[in-house]
Amino acid sequence: MLCSNRLELAHMDAPSIEEASELLNRARTVAERAYAPYSNFRVGAIAVTDSGEQFEGANVENAAYPTGLCAEASATGAAITSGARRIPVMAVISLDAVGVVPCGQCRQRMVEFGVEWIVLESEDEPEIVTLQDLLPRSFEYWE
Ligand SMILES: [Zn+2]
Repeated sequence: MLCSNRLELAHMDAPSIEEASELLNRARTVAERAYAPYSNFRVGAIAVTDSGEQFEGANVENAAYPTGLCAEASATGAAITSGARRIPVMAVISLDAVGVVPCGQCRQRMVEFGVEWIVLESEDEPEIVTLQDLLPRSFEYWE
């Protein structure tokens, strides 16, 4: 789902702490709509495209566990489906744990679409890390 708010990124700079807080607040609201009856671990994500559009995602679990979808995957799917191809910023939060980080599969998924900055919740102010920090030697396809 496309959010009405836009985050105007001058370029690929990291979001400010204020922007990061805003993204986490929005992701928290999205996490309330997660479908997580099996894990009770609700996660929300906001994907910010290179045009500044924001797309929401929440985890969508399934009785057949591998069929479930992470919040970051949901947000990425929404952004890509809209026509975006670059997602410089991804914000991720859980209602059920502080400081949740994307799983390995989502880290690799984010490499595909140019995620540079990942906004995470921490005890005090938002933590902003690079995808390179979380996945230093990602898989790349070479022909
Ligand atoms: Zn994931």
